[in-house]
Formats: sequence, structure tokens, C-alpha cells
Amino acid sequence: QIEARSVGKKFGKFNALRDVSLQVANGEFLSLLGPSGSGKTTFLTLLGGYENATSGKLFLDGQDMTGWTAKQRGFGMVFQGYALFPHLTVAENIAFPLKVQKRSKSDIKDRVARMVEMVGLSGHEGKRPRALSGGQQQRVALARALAYEPEVLLLDEPFSALDKNLRGQMQEELRRLHRDLGTTFVFVTHDQEEALALSTRIAIFNHGELQQVGTPDTVYERPANRFTAEFLGDIN
Ligand code: ATP
Repeated sequence: QIEARSVGKKFGKFNALRDVSLQVANGEFLSLLGPSGSGKTTFLTLLGGYENATSGKLFLDGQDMTGWTAKQRGFGMVFQGYALFPHLTVAENIAFPLKVQKRSKSDIKDRVARMVEMVGLSGHEGKRPRALSGGQQQRVALARALAYEPEVLLLDEPFSALDKNLRGQMQEELRRLHRDLGTTFVFVTHDQEEALALSTRIAIFNHGELQQVGTPDTVYERPANRFTAEFLGDIN
């Protein structure tokens, strides 16, 4: 379980995030939803330990993790874009973090095979990223992040570069992975429909402030304020 207590982040004098308090239960699919610049990515990077909060505290299963590095937290992360290694094959890309963890060769081989199968890339193991479609590259990025079975997976708009069709497929895939793995997902998106379709709960941000947290039904049917109502009403 993750908890943020009054977390804030300033860049110079600019308040990117103000007083955010939020809990994420184990196995949840929490979407961070809001317009561009609302602080979603900033909050995700604070959770992951890639940046330090300026104020407030973060807890993991009751332990204060505010000062922990990204490595100590051990969460998986899928960044915007894919950030695959272009010179490595699909299998090598997925194996990379496992090698860093110094797992045995046979363990790595087994896991890579399982992940390739899980994300539907069987037969593509030996290809390099440039020989794959955007959706396939995104699958490799997902497989790489899931390979070491993190308890928490952080995803920053992983499907923003994909066309609508492919995006639908990837959403379906993510839903299935979440259901099968029981991993906690924290998912950044500015797409209301995507958040409503995928999440167990949605946290809505605007101007660095948390507006509302609730189930898709609650935030849609009972928006806490005018911003939330208009933002969620803005679905075409
Ligand atoms: P998007 O959907 O466009 O990624 P977002 O909701 O994820 O938006 P953030 O990336 O968290 O928004 O940014 C929140 C605000 O903080 C923005 O105004 C941004 O310009 C600012 N910001 C983010 N990172 C930095 C940084 N390293 N230095 C200065 N300002 C930053």
C-alpha cells in the first residue's frame, strides 16, 4: 500500500504539486487524470523516487519511503514513448533489467519467454525495436517493466503515441495483465475515457492540486466540483 501525505513539489518558485494526500491500495489500478501541466507526471516521478518531494511524506506499507531512491523502492516504470534500447533485440531488451539484477541465465531465459508470450510477441524475440510497430514496441516496454515482477508498476501515458485502434488493443491487454498479475498500477493519462474504462479509482488533478479521488462511477456521477464535472463531461 502506498500513501502520499501532503506531498508538494516546487520547481524554483513554481508549485507543480500542492498538498496531495492519497492512498493507493495493493492491487489497485489508479489513474492520475488531468489536463496537460496539471502535475500528473510530477506526482508519478515522486512516487517512483525519480524526483524528491519538496514537502510532505510518502509511505510504502506503513514505512516512510520519502528518502528512498528509485532503486530502493523497486517499482516498475513505463515511460512516455518507449525508451527501448535500439541496438538490442526484443528478448535482450526484456532481459536487460534482469541482468542488472544478476539473475541466473536460466531464470532470465524462462522469464523472457513467459513475458514475450504474455504480451503477445511470440516469434518477434530476435527483432530489433525499429522492425516493430509502435504497439509492439509498447508491448516490449511493458514486458520489460513486468519481467522482474514489481509490486507496483508506474505508467506515464504509455499509449499516447499509438493510434486509436492500437490503443484500444493495448488497453485491453493492460486490463488483462492487471487482472492476472494482481500488480498495483498507477497510470497517468489525460484521456478521460481511458481512465474511466481501465481504473478501479481515478485521481483527478488540476493546476497541481488533487481535485477528487474515487471510483469511475463516483467521479463521473458525483463530481466534487465544477472543474471535475466539466473535465469529465468533456468526452467526445
Ligand atoms: P502532461 O500531460 O503535459 O505531461 P502533466 O499533468 O504530467 O502534463 P507535469 O509534467 O507534472 O504535468 O508538469 C506540471 C507542471 O510542472 C508543468 O507546468 C510543468 O511545466 C512543470 N514542470 C515539470 N517538470 C519540471 C521541471 N523539471 N522543471 C520545471 N518545471 C517543471
